[in-house]
Amino acid sequence: MAMSQISDEELLAMAFDITKNSYAPYSGFPVGAALLLDDGTVVTGCNVENASYGLTMCAERNAVFRMVAEYGPNHKIEACAIAGRKAAPCHPCGACRQVLHEFGCKRVIVESERPDSSGTEDNVTLGAPESIDFEKILPYAFGPEDL
Ligand SMILES: [Zn+2]
Repeated sequence: MAMSQISDEELLAMAFDITKNSYAPYSGFPVGAALLLDDGTVVTGCNVENASYGLTMCAERNAVFRMVAEYGPNHKIEACAIAGRKAAPCHPCGACRQVLHEFGCKRVIVESERPDSSGTEDNVTLGAPESIDFEKILPYAFGPEDL
């Protein structure tokens, strides 16, 4: 989906929305991610678990792989918003940080603490977005520029 101007709030809301498609029967912890690409396109992903637990894939990496599958490998990621259906904030795991770095991710957007009286799981008021520079998320990163 191409969008001209999208706010951090909107990107975070799209990350939360895609948690409805998560497959998380083992952890019970649906997570969604929304990537904002350099041309304004937004790509979402959700976590997909497996009965063989180790094969589970995170929302962020599913979003990145979907980006490549749908739009090719030449896009850069301006920002990656991450939202958990049941809890906030959801910071990316180490593996996802590395994969996001491969495509030049500049910022990660997480939800700051969710208000207690935020309603039901399906009608939730999200906490404010918190933007974190990628150098802070993954300092001393190893990437394509190091080969
Ligand atoms: Zn991850």
